[in-house]
Amino acid sequence: MLENLTDRLSRVVKTMRGEARLTESNTAEMLREIRLALLEADVALPVVKTLLEQIKFKALGEEVVGSLSPGQALVGVVQRELAQVMAGDGSQSGEINLATQPPAVILMAGLQGAGKTTSVGKLAKWLQEKKKKKVLTVSCDVYRPAAIEQLATVSKQVGAECFPSSVDQKPAAIALAALDWARRHYFDVLLVDTAGRLGIDEVLMQEIEDLHNKLSPIETLFVVDAMLGQDAVNTAKAFHDALPLSGVILTKLDGDSRGGAALSVRQVTGVPLKFIGTAEKMDGLEAFDAERMANRILG
Ligand code: GDP
Repeated sequence: MLENLTDRLSRVVKTMRGEARLTESNTAEMLREIRLALLEADVALPVVKTLLEQIKFKALGEEVVGSLSPGQALVGVVQRELAQVMAGDGSQSGEINLATQPPAVILMAGLQGAGKTTSVGKLAKWLQEKKKKKVLTVSCDVYRPAAIEQLATVSKQVGAECFPSSVDQKPAAIALAALDWARRHYFDVLLVDTAGRLGIDEVLMQEIEDLHNKLSPIETLFVVDAMLGQDAVNTAKAFHDALPLSGVILTKLDGDSRGGAALSVRQVTGVPLKFIGTAEKMDGLEAFDAERMANRILG
């Protein structure tokens, strides 16, 4: 088990003698502990550095109110800072922008295995049940027949129609045919699943850029596996450079990752976190909650 931040800081505080304020000297050692805690939670190093600067700035001179120890006060400062970075203005958590002439196109991007197809199924269910929308799904993964089948299966599971596609077609042709079908049959939303590779790949990026240009999606959601840890940042950067991402879905938070990827991805790309994946099942989708994630990261 990783030691949580409160325990770490309590250890440091024991060596202080009733200092009622956070000062340059008693803060330095605590900042070292915070740095370690963030790194152990898989927050990317450059992000940790930036955060520590901000935390130091806010912590120094912070009054220690009532019975709080300097350690507890600092944990509070850190928690608030992390939550603030991840929340942005908070308006986008658990929301999908559908403010467009229907069908609203939602493009899913991310590496293979990130959880895109699963998240399409979960989103379809959410849009149907919570927003009362008529949802069409389509797979543009022409490299893996199993991916096309998987989308058909999850769509059926949640009762959404899945537009047929096959590996001998071009991704853009499939997507445009699905869009045409969605228009003619009065679908509210078209969820477009795309191919992923194991790593960042020029061909893949060009393909998804092309899909983006042709479909003009209202939402381009980046799906990323929380277990990816430090690597999540590089992947997010590469996709963000290629596409104007509008939101992030962080998957597999039911695993034992601390979730530092949430912080890194948000800090580096500025793209809002919208949902988290909390199970393989179709109801394992929750609105992103910045405060809960800050607590999880700090342990
Ligand atoms: P894709 O290649 O990006 O489409 O990824 P998939 O949707 O096929 O997901 C890859 C694997 O991760 C599958 O076995 C999914 O069941 C699993 N998965 C996806 N999201 C979650 C999640 O939130 N929690 C858990 N535990 N597993 C997930």
